[in-house]
Amino acid sequence: MKVTINRSVLELVEGDITLQDTEAIVNAANPSLLGGGGVDGAIHRAGGPQILEECKAIGGCPTGEARITGGGRLKARYVIHAVGPVYKDGRQREPDLLAGAYWSSLELASRNKIKTVAFPAISTGVYGYPMEAAAEVALTTVRRYLEGHSEIQQVRFVLFGRMSYEVFERVLRTMKETGPLKKRGWT
Ligand code: ADP
Repeated sequence: MKVTINRSVLELVEGDITLQDTEAIVNAANPSLLGGGGVDGAIHRAGGPQILEECKAIGGCPTGEARITGGGRLKARYVIHAVGPVYKDGRQREPDLLAGAYWSSLELASRNKIKTVAFPAISTGVYGYPMEAAAEVALTTVRRYLEGHSEIQQVRFVLFGRMSYEVFERVLRTMKETGPLKKRGWT
């Protein structure tokens, strides 16, 4: 599924983020930036040791923020390491922290003149964020950013498995078809 927001494209695909040809891919990292399982492990395996070396030099990242490294052997030139929250009960500022992880990633992209970015569904694996609530935060945050920043030409969500794709698609369709969003230049 694909929508246009001002001059930017927001699209959803089912797939593997390590294979994307966007200028940057986003990693669902942990605060140490020293690697882990899930999408983090897959990115370091595919990209090689250079990414971990750069992460060590950065020395960590607070929850709700992001840091940037090169892409090593990946097709993508950059990896943006975003740290989402561990989900407890939804009352520990999880939505703010998740939105911060997306927003900081996009700010880093703008600052580095990156025009195309691919995101995984941050926090929805080991960190336990419920998929639908995470999709609402992810899509709302990216939509808000793109409304004010046409320098980012394309944001692609790469959802791992049919279930996550379908949840994101349902949330995006609802956002597109209901309420004030209709007036905001979506097509
Ligand atoms: P977190 O610790 O932020 O929850 P995870 O890596 O455990 O991070 O999971 C985040 C999401 O990324 C999950 O929905 C998981 O299914 C998905 N995922 C795992 N591997 C990949 C991959 N290669 N490409 C895209 N998404 C992936």
